[in-house]
Amino acid sequence: MNLLATATLAVSMLPLSALADDKLQISRAGSRPVNAAPAQNFTGAVRVEMLHTPTGPARASAGTVSFTPGARTAWHTHPLGQTLVVIAGTGRVQMWDGAIENIQVGDVVHIPPHVKHWHGAAPTTAMAHIAITEAQDGKAVDWLEPVSDAQYGLPPPVANAPTAPSRAQSLFGDVAPKLAELTDQVLFADVWARPGLSRRDRSLATVSALIAMNRPEQLRSHMALARANGMTQEELVETLTHLAFYAGWPSAITAAGVAREVFAKP
Ligand code: MN
Repeated sequence: MNLLATATLAVSMLPLSALADDKLQISRAGSRPVNAAPAQNFTGAVRVEMLHTPTGPARASAGTVSFTPGARTAWHTHPLGQTLVVIAGTGRVQMWDGAIENIQVGDVVHIPPHVKHWHGAAPTTAMAHIAITEAQDGKAVDWLEPVSDAQYGLPPPVANAPTAPSRAQSLFGDVAPKLAELTDQVLFADVWARPGLSRRDRSLATVSALIAMNRPEQLRSHMALARANGMTQEELVETLTHLAFYAGWPSAITAAGVAREVFAKP
């Protein structure tokens, strides 16, 4: 056997994992897919971005899980436990037979092996955590039953109580019920609740777009919402003044008229 053939044989006998693991791997920000969490194991809108999936003999995975307000996992256990690092918002975690614990940005939670538990957002605030989980025999989680509203801490629904229609439902739910449902469930319960931007910053972006497009009808309700989300009158006036140079004088004048109406309301 010549030298080249010997060398080729030696390389081909190396375990595959040794070849794969000797390279530095960098997964760049923004390059990883973000997927909806499976509905059978979660309540509410939850998104998962896997940060690391183990290969070869390694068994620790890491993923970012983002919960909209009220969203949570089902009850479940992990064969080797789990560590949660809260990176946005405030949420809740509970072990079976334990009290509901509040968790917030910077908190690190360790779930012991085989202990039944759930984790998720608080009822009115979103929460995101990084979950680090080790698999045993290829399995990292055993899913159980959903966390009921009563277990989650929501008050029981009052029998026969009429539920207040959302703003979208009352504005156009009669003529376009699907659009009202999408507005409530996708736009407000999901996009507006995502932890990547504060509600104030989302209001600034939305108000700016509506000023630029000269949409006084939608601007009226979004200026009011912006004030509820922490923008001051002075900041809204500064925004429309700034946009006069980018969106055009007429759009800014229209926005000033809307602002006068909105500011006149308590
Ligand atoms: Mn868990």
